Amino acid sequence: MKTFSYIDINKDTFYTHLPMEDKKILIIGAGISGLSLAVNLKKMDIPYRIIEKQSKWNIKGLAMTIQGEGLNAASSMGILDEIKLKGTKRNLAKIYNNKGKILKQFTPNSSDNSFIVQRDTLHEALRSKISNIEMGLSAAGISKLGNRLNVIFSDGSSDSFNLVVGADGINSTTRNYINSSNINPSKDSSVVHSGSVLWGITLNKKYSEIIEVWDKNRMCAFYPVQNKTVVSFFMKTPELFTSSRDERARHIKKYFSTISHPFVQEVLDNIPKDIFFDHVRYTRPDKWNMDKITLIGDACHSLSPLSGLGANLAMADAEGLAQIIYTYGNNANFTDKLVKYNIKRKKEADFAFNLSKQRTSRGMMIFPWTIFRNIKIKNSAKI
Ligand SMILES: Cc1cc2nc3c(=O)[nH]c(=O)nc-3n(C[C@H](O)[C@H](O)[C@H](O)COP(=O)(O)OP(=O)(O)OC[C@H]3O[C@@H](n4cnc5c(N)ncnc54)[C@H](O)[C@@H]3O)c2cc1C
Repeated sequence: MKTFSYIDINKDTFYTHLPMEDKKILIIGAGISGLSLAVNLKKMDIPYRIIEKQSKWNIKGLAMTIQGEGLNAASSMGILDEIKLKGTKRNLAKIYNNKGKILKQFTPNSSDNSFIVQRDTLHEALRSKISNIEMGLSAAGISKLGNRLNVIFSDGSSDSFNLVVGADGINSTTRNYINSSNINPSKDSSVVHSGSVLWGITLNKKYSEIIEVWDKNRMCAFYPVQNKTVVSFFMKTPELFTSSRDERARHIKKYFSTISHPFVQEVLDNIPKDIFFDHVRYTRPDKWNMDKITLIGDACHSLSPLSGLGANLAMADAEGLAQIIYTYGNNANFTDKLVKYNIKRKKEADFAFNLSKQRTSRGMMIFPWTIFRNIKIKNSAKI
C-alpha cells in the first residue's frame, strides 16, 4: 500500500508551538474533504473552525469505493475499522454487454483492501471524530487584513484567520476568490458539464458481486454495500436534464429497456419516484490557492462518480494539506510551500481526472468503437 506523505514532519518545527491566534484556520464546508481536514487538524492540536451551509444533514449520494490513498488517509484518521465494519470488501466484478453477455470478469488481487461504503457511513464516521461543526453558516465575504484574512459570515459575525480552506464541493464559491479571472469554461478550467446524468437507488437486497452493464450512451452498475445494493444508472441524455421527478422514473425505464440483463430488468420494474438524481460535471480550476485562501476536494477537482476516486482524493488532499500547515504554517514562506504542494497535488488529481473521463466514456461507447473496446478489455488483466 502506498504511503501518502508530502513532507517529513520535523518535530522541532511543531506548528503547535505558535500562539493560538496565529494558527486559526477556517474550513468552509463539512463534506468529505472538510471533515477530513478537521479530523487531521484536531489530531495535530491546531485550532480551526468548520462551517457548513446546510442547517441539518442531508447526505446525498450512493456507494463509494474507498481505495488507494483514501485507505491510508482513512486509516490515519482512525475511521478504517468503521468503514470495514459497515462496508463490503470489493470482490468479484463482472462487466456485461446489453445482451447479458459477460465481457470481462475480474477478481481483485489479494492485496486489494478496497471497501465499498455508502456516503452517509463515511460522513458519519468522520463526524464522530469532531464535535465543533457550525451548521447553517457560510462565508459571505473574505478580505485581507494585514497578514491575515477577515471573514464575514452569513449571520453577520466576523473573525480573522491565518488560512481559509474552501472545502465547499463542486459548486464552490470560495473558488471564485482564487480563479475569478481565470475561469474559462471552453478551456475546461471551471465547472464543465459532461453531458451525462446519474440516477441511483438503494435496494434492501444484496447481490453478491459488483456488476456493470455497458450499452450505447448508458451503463448500469450494482454495488453491494453491507446488506444492501446500490444501483447507479448513468447516461448521456442531455434532453432529460430538466425532467421532473415523476418523468425521471419513466425515462429511466425507457432508456434501459434495451438492456436484457435480468438484474437490471428486475430493478426497472420497481423504480421509486424519489430516485437520486445528479448532473455529472467536472471541475478543474488552474489555480488552487490565492495567497492564504486554498481549495481541497471537489472544489478543485471533481470527477465522474464512476471513477470511484473523488472521496479518496478529498481525504488525501486534507491529509496532505494538514501536514503542510503543521510544518510550515507559521513560516514566512508558508504560501510558497502551499503553492508547491498544490502544484504537486494537482498533477495527481489530473491523473485521476483523466482516468475518470476515460472510464466513463469507455462504458458508454457506441458501435463500432465497442468492438475495439471489447477486444481491449478482454486482453487487459484488470478493468
Ligand atoms: C453518486 C456519487 C457516487 C460517488 N462515488 C464515489 C466513489 O465510489 N468513490 C469516491 O472516491 N468518490 C465518489 N464520489 C465522489 C465524492 O462523493 C466526492 O468527490 C466527495 O464527496 C468530495 O468531497 P468534498 O468535501 O470536496 O465535497 P462534498 O462532499 O460535496 O462537500 C461539500 C460540503 O460543503 C458544503 N458547502 C457548500 N458551499 C458552502 C458554503 N458556501 N459554506 C459552507 N458550506 C458549504 C456542502 O453543503 C457540503 O456539505 C461519488 C459522488 C457521487 C455524487
